[in-house]
Amino acid sequence: TAVDNAPAIVVGSGYGSSVAALRLGQAGIRTIVIEMGRLWNTAGPDGKVFCPTTAPDQRSMWFRTRTEAPLATFLWLDVVNKDISRYPGVLDRVHFANISVFVGRGVGGGSLVNGGMAVTPLKSYFEEQFPSVDADEMYGTYYPRARSMLGVNSIDPAWFESTEWYRYTRISRKHAANAGLRTTFVPNVYDFGHMQREAAGTATRSALAGEVMYGNNHGKRSLDKSYLAAALGTGNVTIHTLERVTSISRAGDGTYLLTAQRIDETGAVVETKEYNCTYLFLGGGSVGTTELLLRARETGTLPALDASVGTGWGTNGNVMLGRANHLWDTVGVNQSTMPVMGIDDWANTANPVFAEIAPLPTGLENWVSLYLAITKNQERASFSWSGGSLALNWTPAQSAVSSAMAKKLFDRINRANATIYRYDLFGSPSRAFADDFTYHPLGGCVLGRATDNYGRVKGYSKLYVTDGSLVPGSLGVNPFVTITALAERTMARVLVEDTAP
Ligand code: FAD
Repeated sequence: TAVDNAPAIVVGSGYGSSVAALRLGQAGIRTIVIEMGRLWNTAGPDGKVFCPTTAPDQRSMWFRTRTEAPLATFLWLDVVNKDISRYPGVLDRVHFANISVFVGRGVGGGSLVNGGMAVTPLKSYFEEQFPSVDADEMYGTYYPRARSMLGVNSIDPAWFESTEWYRYTRISRKHAANAGLRTTFVPNVYDFGHMQREAAGTATRSALAGEVMYGNNHGKRSLDKSYLAAALGTGNVTIHTLERVTSISRAGDGTYLLTAQRIDETGAVVETKEYNCTYLFLGGGSVGTTELLLRARETGTLPALDASVGTGWGTNGNVMLGRANHLWDTVGVNQSTMPVMGIDDWANTANPVFAEIAPLPTGLENWVSLYLAITKNQERASFSWSGGSLALNWTPAQSAVSSAMAKKLFDRINRANATIYRYDLFGSPSRAFADDFTYHPLGGCVLGRATDNYGRVKGYSKLYVTDGSLVPGSLGVNPFVTITALAERTMARVLVEDTAP
């Protein structure tokens, strides 16, 4: 087979990889980005790029015959999930023994499927999680750079107070206030100007049409519209899609050799490709990057990788739950899919929780207040490579730590409002807390342990990690702004120190 050469290769096209691709391209370094998902820019037979959330088709999920939405049921009826045909759809749910991980697949990675919440963590908690990183520099330079490149904006508070589309959020705010809890607005990368035009009927609806997890057809500034568009604009970056990197090794001259499998839309491998590069940037996400490195260490293709590769993994304490409201506390038929507010009880050292007020746009009044709680869960797990596949030793007891913290907070809210939990949303009867999945997989290749303080992988030169695997399992808020900012910090350093002729 022919070997495709480039000075730099970037694996994946999520946050960490998109930053790497843009900054390499701007530095005049020819770069190939290898992404296992497809490019989402062509309309299907219905005229839309992404499928509707309420009627998911093959575009919804990565090679599945049935969708696997986080909310499995409604009133215990199996009404949420639908049969689909196998296709490289945009959302994947990676199953491990006791936890599953939702990830985006396609050019733009998680940015295609996520809720767009662009939250900068508390500086004090960032310092706790990243003691070796200069926090002043992060908050003075790299966070602002990331937010501006990502197109972060905030909802107009006056519109928020008046629009029917955020009635569900205002109800949850009221219930939190009744318990003496503080709420705070969270910024987003969804264009709120577009959203207001959707509400006014002058723009095509996306956030106001229930779109989010299976992609937004309008309004959202996903990475393909921000970093990756700019990267392609440098003229130095090429993106190869539907190619999955399966192994990494090092050639005698110190360059890197990659094997990638190109698949067609049925998932069949149609070509095995070889790549060669001097600089290799891994941005496959917490699971994707850790899998590649662990496999390389365990199969002996990169034997000098540090023993800490595969360790330090956490869920960011994610738990989802719903509360049942009184009949007079309607949440509204119309709900925007982009969350804009969180209940901030992180300062409560006995039980730190930041809970996002999430939508449940079923198209009819459902009296549900839904939340994604981010809890300060200190539990961590490790990946292992055995029998040719990746395993993760996260246990149900470790998830129960998150649920118990969420329960403490929401018991307070229920007491203050004389309300109860909803038990019909997550599959099995009487399950109030969904703690068996995470949207925020973090760690596996932790900064300063598996890598140096800038994401340079220990044991090898010119090999870098730029994604969520650098974050040690918890961040207290949604992670993509931090992943982006850390990648900006890595690229600023690497392009000065490592690529000088
Ligand atoms: P990713 O964005 O996961 O990108 C990795 C990319 O690499 C993927 O495209 C993948 O297909 C590709 N890849 C992996 N392995 C390989 C391989 N071997 N070969 C080729 N390609 C490969 N975060 C927030 O901050 N705010 C939110 O509101 C929010 N909401 C979310 C909602 C959902 C439903 C989900 C699933 C996530 C959400 N997140 C949110 C989390 C956020 O999207 C992730 O933290 C973020 O995308 C991680 O960025 P990353 O760069 O680490 O990797």
